[in-house]
Amino acid sequence: TSAGKSKLTIGLIPADGIGKEVIPAAQQVLEAVSPNKFAFLHLDAGFELFQKTGVALPEETVEKLKSECAGALFGAVSSPSHKVAGYSSPIVALRKRMDLYANVRPVASPVGAAGKPIDMLIIRENTECLYIKSERLETLPDGTKVAWADRKITEYASKRIARMAFKMALQRGKLREAKRQQGGSVAWQGQPKVTVVHKSNVLSVSDGLFRESCLAVHKEDPSFAGVKLEEQLVDSMVYRMFREPDVFDVAVAPNLYGDIISDGAAALVGSLGVVAGANVGDNFVLGEPVHGSAPDIAGKGIANPIAAIRSAALLLEHLGLASEASRIHSAVDKVLNEQAQAMTPDLGGRGTTKGVTDAVIKLL
Ligand code: ATP
Ligand code: MG
Repeated sequence: TSAGKSKLTIGLIPADGIGKEVIPAAQQVLEAVSPNKFAFLHLDAGFELFQKTGVALPEETVEKLKSECAGALFGAVSSPSHKVAGYSSPIVALRKRMDLYANVRPVASPVGAAGKPIDMLIIRENTECLYIKSERLETLPDGTKVAWADRKITEYASKRIARMAFKMALQRGKLREAKRQQGGSVAWQGQPKVTVVHKSNVLSVSDGLFRESCLAVHKEDPSFAGVKLEEQLVDSMVYRMFREPDVFDVAVAPNLYGDIISDGAAALVGSLGVVAGANVGDNFVLGEPVHGSAPDIAGKGIANPIAAIRSAALLLEHLGLASEASRIHSAVDKVLNEQAQAMTPDLGGRGTTKGVTDAVIKLL
């Protein structure tokens, strides 16, 4: 029937640990925000699956994502602290296989919360930098060791990520304008802005290329003239982020700096349990909370589902379902602002995954 065809299929890959608790919570929220719009496809991956079957990322999962899903949500993978023969991270493999070259992480305080409003979007390059993992150990004639690591920065990947940053800055500007016109409040008051994070004063070749590529992209498209470009050395970025987090709109960074500043930024808004993320490519989006599998609390029913729920909203935004996404964001903000007691322990409450999820659903 046409009703069946008009449904959007969302792939769900809970994977390991609390992923198995927060992804079902996000699914319930998606069902509540638009009861007949989504079909869900449950897919396997993860370290636990590897331990059972010897495969961390089944071919079937990749194929079904590509052929049947409009987008997907990923939970978290456990990373074993020791090297396990034959195992490599399925999320890293998925990012590569689906060419999800940007990791997009909105860090925002709830609208209406006390304190300085924070509403920044960190865009982390997802494919290169030190994360190409090209390392080697050398033993000198005197027996002492030297470790080397290669860092790869390409003009191609840097320009591609910069383009995404400018486009998203323009998009966010439009959304803010619409919100303002409806009488809503917005955290960031200025014109759209992109902060390019680098360390080209020291690494003039590699970070120099990243910086130059971003600057070149800013000039290449006339519509990008509507975005203010600012540069920030990564060390002073961290300092400034903690002193005045409200002065940032979009920040774009090479892989490692992006990883570090986004975990730091999570501390500014309460907990890793509330920060959403998405792996974005030109043809696919995979929502993924910033947190990991949290083995210390897995199976206890107390994982904060908000990061996963917000990741679902982020996925909807990328699928063009802005009003559904914004209803989820508003419900989450309201629960965060008004029901502190009901929050999970990471935010100082005595609540549960189910309790928080139900509270969000009730508001939808
Ligand atoms: P992994 O190797 O999978 O990344 P990890 O031990 O690094 O696991 P993280 O998931 O990164 O664990 O979490 C770091 C800390 O934050 C842990 O103490 C964890 O309990 C807490 N945490 C992470 N996510 C959540 C969440 N959704 N709700 C509550 N606490 C969380
Ligand atoms: Mg971790």
